[in-house]
Amino acid sequence: MRIFFLDQSGKPGGAELCLIDIAKPYSHSALVGLFADGPFKDLLEQNHIPVEILATQTIQVSKESSLAQGLKSLGQLAPLITKVIKKAREYDLIYANTQKALVVGALASFFSRRPLVYHLHDILSTEHFSQTNLRIAINLANRCASLVIANSQASKTAFIQAGGRSDIVEVVYNGFDLKIYQTDEPGINQLQQKLGLQGKFVVGHFSRLAPWKGQHILIDALAKCPPEVTVILVGDALFGEQDYAQKLHKQVTDLGLENRVKFLGFRSDIPQLMAACDLVAHTSTSPEPFGRVIVEAMLCGKPVVAAKAGGVMELVEHGLNGFLVTPGEPQELAQVIITCLQETEITATIANNARTTASRRFDVATINQQIAQLLSHRF
Ligand code: UDP
Repeated sequence: MRIFFLDQSGKPGGAELCLIDIAKPYSHSALVGLFADGPFKDLLEQNHIPVEILATQTIQVSKESSLAQGLKSLGQLAPLITKVIKKAREYDLIYANTQKALVVGALASFFSRRPLVYHLHDILSTEHFSQTNLRIAINLANRCASLVIANSQASKTAFIQAGGRSDIVEVVYNGFDLKIYQTDEPGINQLQQKLGLQGKFVVGHFSRLAPWKGQHILIDALAKCPPEVTVILVGDALFGEQDYAQKLHKQVTDLGLENRVKFLGFRSDIPQLMAACDLVAHTSTSPEPFGRVIVEAMLCGKPVVAAKAGGVMELVEHGLNGFLVTPGEPQELAQVIITCLQETEITATIANNARTTASRRFDVATINQQIAQLLSHRF
């Protein structure tokens, strides 16, 4: 099957990393069309997936920017849309991976008479998007998409609650290449040494810096933990959240935690960095649609503490394969960090359980089979 994937971003957020795994099996006859240049293009090329930058001028691609604005600038988007329609005729299927890709993909689907799949990586609720955004996304999906793939039950439920058609939506979790998460001990020791983490109890946070990802909650919790607890913040302000990054630095200074928090920026060695941690914290203050980081930590055999909301509750069962805390509660988070620091045996058992179940549930080979089956049934 020849698939024309569309994604609005030049930067590799969770949806883009997921797309790499989905596009790989189709790479001999697929194309990924991007609306912006950037490191995501390099990642696709490294994975031998054909990619083309389709936008002739810069389009506002900030993740949470309004879809309505996007529609208003349809005139400005005209060259992109024309290009997408022309290209779409060379493929059997259009696969929109983001909301702006849905807008462009829907038009291209109509004019090129190619079916449209929408991969929904968001919780479509007013907590994350404006009413207008929601209405546009739901209407386009309902009218133009033959299939909506939701990345969790939580995303599917929100889609239906917002007016999405239940007969077109299916849940497929993100898949992960299990080999990548088997790390070697000497390499990890070296990394710990390089980062000055030896002898510390390291809590890792792996996410772009954005207010709703809640890095500030972890910093507040750290101030309530014993001095051997150290935090690494892995990730950068990917979609214009520079102010938040500055606020985090100020918070660290105000709390006198300069020696206990390391900002590592965007990194590509996530499994190694996770293996160098004692605990991985996920602190989103709004419901997370899926939470790739949680599964990645589980696959690395690391205990996870995560905010109890959205898709996270489909991944973590408190006390069995991880820990759940109330979103936005630093005190509760600090308590779990201290428990993990003290109760090492129980924590290790929980992390081992998590590795076993996550390897079974999220193996990319199984997930890709699910997608292949959905596509072959419908198209
Ligand atoms: N990530 C990364 N480098 C970083 C920070 C994060 O590669 O410096 C990856 C992380 O491992 C995960 C993805 O970015 O696979 C983030 O996905 P998630 O579902 O947690 O959040 P999203 O960005 O989709 O909101």
